[in-house]
Amino acid sequence: MATKILYVEDNPLNMRLVKKILIDLGFDMLEAVDGRSGIELAVVHTPDLILLDINLPDIDGLEITRQLKQHATTRRIPIIALTANAMYGDKERCLDAGCDGYIAKPVAKLELKNVLHHFLAHSGMTSTARTY
Ligand code: MN
Repeated sequence: MATKILYVEDNPLNMRLVKKILIDLGFDMLEAVDGRSGIELAVVHTPDLILLDINLPDIDGLEITRQLKQHATTRRIPIIALTANAMYGDKERCLDAGCDGYIAKPVAKLELKNVLHHFLAHSGMTSTARTY
C-alpha cells in the first residue's frame, strides 16, 4: 500500500505542481483546498504525512496544526508547513505551532523529496516509487 499524503492548499498552481511531484515519487495523495476540509480529511483518512499551506481562506495553517496536534487520531502525523512568507521568524512560528518541518515556496522537487523521505523514514514508512 502506497504512502498517503494529504496536501492542504488553496492555490491551484501550487496544488498542481506538488501533486505532480508526489505522483512522480509514487505517493498516494489526498487534496483539500481549505482548512476545514483539510482537518476533516486528516481525521477521516489519517494520512502518513500532511503538507500544509499556511495561508488558507478559512482557518490558517498554524491553527490547523494546533488542532490536529491535539486530536488523538492525528497528533502523530508529521505536518510540514509550506509558506511563501520566507521572512525571518516564519519557520519558528510554524514549529512553535507544532509543525514538524518547514518548506519555503516555491517548492523544489529535490527539497520536497528529501523532507518527505526524512519524515517518512522516521516513522518506518517509505514511498513505493522505484525511480528517483
Ligand atoms: Mn494559500
